[in-house]
Amino acid sequence: MSQPEQRRILATAIPGPTSVKLQEQRARELSDGLGVTMPVFVERAGGGIIVDVDGNHIIDLASGIAVTSVGASDPAVVRRISEQAERFTHTCFLVTEYDGFVDVAAALNRLTPGDHRKKTALFTTGAEAVENAIKIARTATGRPAVVVLGHAYHGRTLLTMSMTAKNVPYKQGFGPFAPEVYRVPSPYPYRWPSGPENAAAEALAALKDVVLTQVGATNVAAIVAEPIQGEGGFIVPPPGYLKAVQDFAAEHGIVFVADEIQTGLARTGAMFACDHEGVVPDLITTAKALAGGMPLAAVTGRAELMDAVPPGGLGGTYAGNPVACAAALGALETIERENLVARAAQIEERVLPRLRALAGPGSVVGDARGRGAMLAVELVRPGTTEPAPEIAKAVAAACHAEGVLTLVCGTFGNVIRLLPPLVIPFDLLDEAVGVLESAVRDAS
Ligand SMILES: *Cc1c(COP(=O)(O)O)cnc(C)c1O
Repeated sequence: MSQPEQRRILATAIPGPTSVKLQEQRARELSDGLGVTMPVFVERAGGGIIVDVDGNHIIDLASGIAVTSVGASDPAVVRRISEQAERFTHTCFLVTEYDGFVDVAAALNRLTPGDHRKKTALFTTGAEAVENAIKIARTATGRPAVVVLGHAYHGRTLLTMSMTAKNVPYKQGFGPFAPEVYRVPSPYPYRWPSGPENAAAEALAALKDVVLTQVGATNVAAIVAEPIQGEGGFIVPPPGYLKAVQDFAAEHGIVFVADEIQTGLARTGAMFACDHEGVVPDLITTAKALAGGMPLAAVTGRAELMDAVPPGGLGGTYAGNPVACAAALGALETIERENLVARAAQIEERVLPRLRALAGPGSVVGDARGRGAMLAVELVRPGTTEPAPEIAKAVAAACHAEGVLTLVCGTFGNVIRLLPPLVIPFDLLDEAVGVLESAVRDAS
């Protein structure tokens, strides 16, 4: 089937009557614990467009949360999935092997930062990759503690929700939490109390204080950081901070883990967000954009760390499923062939100045930031830095009504984030940003 027409079409109100009907059925059948951003049911999707069951063509600024960077029906992904599914859908790699698993690992060993010897293990979800990075770091160091940042998001399993900063909705009622998780301040430039120019040095001092005096460096297995914080609000750390954390970790035999599940694989205008600053993590987690929409995740890192766990200690029934691996090889082929790294940088050049122009004294936009195709505006009460989640919600709702899918994020729920597929046609992207601009102006 060919790609949907790359044009915004409002055929009905959003959600339309068919979606509303399906939504009623959903409410009867599904746990209320499952949320939804835009209550439309999808008929097909590809490029920069999602077609719903009522025939609306919605511009996709979400990519299913940074997953479908190559689009939701990339021809290389679709072809490889079909070929693989016809041959076999599963063996369990721990039982009998297949080359797709090894090929994806080789690609990640090649593409991730650093030219040291690397090895990879594949898993199914992002949270699982983070959990396994901790298992590897603990085994390799013989130490228990894990240090994470304020505003961090690492997943929804017991360990990863313990590592995640935000209580509602990720943690409320789900305790007790995993032990030996310690939190240090995130150098959030826009909200750093003594000003953005002091964020890197003061956050680093606070990290050193926690590691050296409170936990003890010899008890710390890993420091885990998202090189640009995702769910926490698209927070770009000040230059030099990540490199300083990497150096401090190395000095104390601590494994530095970069969680690049949201930022990795071309999203930020570099293959990995760490590349912007020459940061070389010991371990790196990937997932979201890795397999063009199929569930696949990975831990890649220093061979000596990756080999610390004895045979049988890592894995999972579905880990590195052959269809998901085939999809990943298709997605990586498209990322490299279409040079989507450069494409993400072009998206930043096109969109970030327009978002910056929305900010200013008296505006509801307090800050515009991000890298590549990972861009955001932070909404505040005009003239203050007080978070305005209700304005973010209203702006997102106005975009949705106009057929533009935007997502809200941030510890305070006041950040609108843009995560378009990297293959989105520029005219669609420009149109969608225009819709966002009008929605922000209306909210002001
Ligand atoms: C989404 C995300 C995760 C969790 O991935 P799942 O596949 O949802 O388990 C972990 N870390 C980061 C940075 C993420 O953005």
